[in-house]
Amino acid sequence: MPYSHPAERYGRVYVLRIGHRPERDKRITTHVGLVARAFGANGFILADICDEHVMESLRGVLERWGGVMHLECGVSGRQYVRKWKSEGGEVIHLTMYGLHVDDVIGEIRESQRPKLIVVGAEKVPSFYYEEADYNVAIGNQPHSEVAALAVFLDRLYEGRELRIEFPGAKLRIEPSPRGKKVVSLE
Ligand code: SAM
Repeated sequence: MPYSHPAERYGRVYVLRIGHRPERDKRITTHVGLVARAFGANGFILADICDEHVMESLRGVLERWGGVMHLECGVSGRQYVRKWKSEGGEVIHLTMYGLHVDDVIGEIRESQRPKLIVVGAEKVPSFYYEEADYNVAIGNQPHSEVAALAVFLDRLYEGRELRIEFPGAKLRIEPSPRGKKVVSLE
C-alpha cells in the first residue's frame, strides 16, 4: 500500500553535504543526494562548492524517477546552518562520535521542527559539532556518509520512506521475483 510522503507526517528534512572534494567525491556525494531523495528528504544542499557533475546526475534522476527535491550548491555551509537555526529549525550532525541514534531518535522525531541533516567527508570542522542540536552516531564505528544517512532517515521515518510513490515519475519499477520490469508512465 502506498504511503504519502513522510515529510507530511514528520516535517521538512534537508541534507547538507559538507567537505565535498570534486576530484575524489563525485560518486559518493551523488550517492548522498540519491539516498536523500530515495529515502524521503525534501532538499539536498552541496555546501561551499558547486559540482555540476553531481547536480546534473541528481536532476536527471528527479526528471526520470520523479519526486520534488530542493537542490542547491555553492552556499556557505556555516551560514546555512546558522540561518536554518535562526528560522527555528534544528541541526542534526551525523558523526561516529555522537550519541547513539537509538537514544535520541524519539526526541528528534517528536520535535516536528524542520531538520537539517549534516554529513561530512573527511575531517569535519568543530563548528558543526558545536552548532548541531544533535550529534548523532549510527553506531560508534567509522563507516560512510551514505550508510549513515540511509539508516538515519529510515529510523526517522520508521521505514515508511521505502513506500513513497514519487510524483511526476516517467519510470516505475514493477517488483519482480526475477529479471527487471520497468514501466514507462509517459
Ligand atoms: N573521522 C571523520 C569525522 O570527522 O567524523 C569520519 C569521516 S566519514 C568517511 C564521512 C562521514 O560519514 C562523516 O562526516 C559522517 O557524517 C559519516 N559517518 C561515518 N561513520 C558514521 C557513524 N558511525 N555515524 C554517523 N555518521 C557517520
